[in-house]
Amino acid sequence: MTTDDADAVSVPIARRGLMLVLSSPSGAGKSTIARNLMEIDAGFELSVSVTTRARRGSEIEGVHYRFVDERTFMRMRDDDDLLEWAEVHGNHYATPRAPVEQAMAAGRDMLFDIDWQGAKQMIQKMRADVVSVFILPPSMAELRARLMRRAEDRPDVIEQRLKNAALEIEHWREYDYVIVNDDLDRAFEAVRAIVRAERLRRDRRPGLFDFVSGLLASDWRDGS
Ligand code: 5GP
Repeated sequence: MTTDDADAVSVPIARRGLMLVLSSPSGAGKSTIARNLMEIDAGFELSVSVTTRARRGSEIEGVHYRFVDERTFMRMRDDDDLLEWAEVHGNHYATPRAPVEQAMAAGRDMLFDIDWQGAKQMIQKMRADVVSVFILPPSMAELRARLMRRAEDRPDVIEQRLKNAALEIEHWREYDYVIVNDDLDRAFEAVRAIVRAERLRRDRRPGLFDFVSGLLASDWRDGS
């Protein structure tokens, strides 16, 4: 069980960890927001997915993903080692189960950068702990421009990602919160505001029982 972070309240009150699921089409800014959140908020642990996709030049094994072959992926799936899994852009992606169960048992918050299929499975399995946020681009033209600026994928891959973006966006209604990322700082602040509010939810803070009991049991009537 963790306690509220310093910017929420100064009195530590035990609460359950939350699972923050961020989804968006590639290029809408989700990965940058996730990275910034990890830098600024020590309360979060990032879920490192497994994938069968080829590693990009800038990516580090075990940090951005665990890169596995198709056979290993299927074995993990069959052994029930995966909390959710999906096929995205022709590759397989999944959230390993063990780190999530460990974080939840310890009451730590966890951040997931996963697509709508994964979000749906997580919501089905752990509704009470999941907070889901969908990030939209300001326009499809801007999304294309961002994907091209990133220059990490081949042109045919970018076209495929744009087509998939439209399909991903259709699922916006399945999320608790929706943010249009026309300005990265503002979008990031919106995510921070969601996190602050969600950490204060009554049903996530069993420690409130003891705290309030203590308040009412104190000698409040005689002004001491
Ligand atoms: P990319 O190949 O650009 O890193 O990721 C492609 C898409 O796969 C992104 O939308 C990303 O959120 C999603 N993704 C990454 N990891 C997972 C995962 O573990 N599960 C699911 N369902 N989607 C994932």
